[in-house]
Amino acid sequence: MFKIGVGPSSSHTLGPWRAAQRFTDSLQQKNILQQVKSMEVLLYGSLAKTGIGHGTDVAVQLGLCGNDPVSFDVNNITAKVQDIKQMKKLVLAGKHEIDFNPAEDIEFLVSESLPFHPNALTFLVKLENDDTLAETYYSIGGGFVVKEGEGKNFEDEVTLPFPINTADELLHWCMKTGMNVSDVVMENENTWRSETETKQGLLNIWRVMKECIYQGCHTEGILPGGLNVKRRGAGLNKKLINGNSYSDYNTWLATIRQGGNDFKYILDWVSCFALAVNEENASFGRVVTAPTNGAAGVIPAVLQYYIAFCDGNTDDKIIQFLLTASEVGSIFKKGATISAAMGGCQAEIGVSSAMAASALTECMGGTQRQTLMAAEIAMEHHLGLTCDPIGGLVQIPCIERNTMGAIKAITACQLALQSTPDYAKVSLDGVIKTMWDTALDMNSKYKETSDGGLAINVPISLSEC
Ligand code: SF4
Repeated sequence: MFKIGVGPSSSHTLGPWRAAQRFTDSLQQKNILQQVKSMEVLLYGSLAKTGIGHGTDVAVQLGLCGNDPVSFDVNNITAKVQDIKQMKKLVLAGKHEIDFNPAEDIEFLVSESLPFHPNALTFLVKLENDDTLAETYYSIGGGFVVKEGEGKNFEDEVTLPFPINTADELLHWCMKTGMNVSDVVMENENTWRSETETKQGLLNIWRVMKECIYQGCHTEGILPGGLNVKRRGAGLNKKLINGNSYSDYNTWLATIRQGGNDFKYILDWVSCFALAVNEENASFGRVVTAPTNGAAGVIPAVLQYYIAFCDGNTDDKIIQFLLTASEVGSIFKKGATISAAMGGCQAEIGVSSAMAASALTECMGGTQRQTLMAAEIAMEHHLGLTCDPIGGLVQIPCIERNTMGAIKAITACQLALQSTPDYAKVSLDGVIKTMWDTALDMNSKYKETSDGGLAINVPISLSEC
């Protein structure tokens, strides 16, 4: 559920980047990389309609060059892409130079869509002997990619101690063993790697999240893309800090804590954390998909709230939070979708809010039932949320929407902690099914196409680039 990558979109940036890497890997495995004479990239459906705003073309070029989204210096993205544009050359996998003109060789097929998934891209190469090869990949949300014709996934190949597809199954294992959600998840994770490695991985994910919050809270200016959206995280941070000095994340955190527990003060900070992450995301910054990039601010904002204003500033609590959140996200992915191109924004902000709500509830001492109830409440009040980013950019309504998802998660947690789940009328599985049914009924213009909603009702003028 949590992947370190680059903004602004997990399905439209990270997924296509990974697909391009996989394609060049495939060329190398077939021993034909050096024989490639020319290539084209075809973007279909939602990738074509909002690909420019989401940086799909940029991501594809970086992936084809063999760069990795986890480690590539985000400060070099613009220069690298400018270089390809000017030279009209691209070095496949960093090893084999070909002629490549992004303006002509990346095609945005806005009126074509492939049946398996709206986020599809095809790589077409011509070899020196004039043979051709084509591979199609689908970016299915959250940075996950599947190749056309690919068989079963990795998870099917292992036997987990606690197989889980639904919230009821998760609750069954919790009740049977007496373990919390996070304990059950850790037992399953132990199938793949040692507990120490899982813990280190999770703390690394939190490191990237917190660096992203801190960076976003200290970067002013206008977001790229042409909408001229002013960054607000840094200004709000300055206001809330009120002239107090600090030198790094830890002293900043201590300064935040000194400000007290006034409701409005905390509310402002939660918004500030979420704005900061999503402004970084909109600027091609380094972010963690949680479960997607557009919704990347909700979970860090709620976890940062827990650390700053509750008792969450320990490695164990951070690990517990992320384990619980990840399982809830995984159940949504299995029972519905985490792709806005399939289900609208309920699949992004709604799912991230549900993940954060459950994680906070378990960490605050809620029972297993309350933990799942919090996820249900959070999603129940995101049902039907459409995806209609203005100009195809992950900025309006996306950035503010993360503040809403975070606040709803905290409210859902409190409601669950103050409730008796036995009296709940809606189950988590019930709301997941409802979300999926709603996704199926939702008009495609509200599924990351920028064909409806705010995207067509707010006048803008974006310059061609
Ligand atoms: S509106 Fe929601 S789903 Fe659509 S791009 Fe923005 S955050 Fe993602």
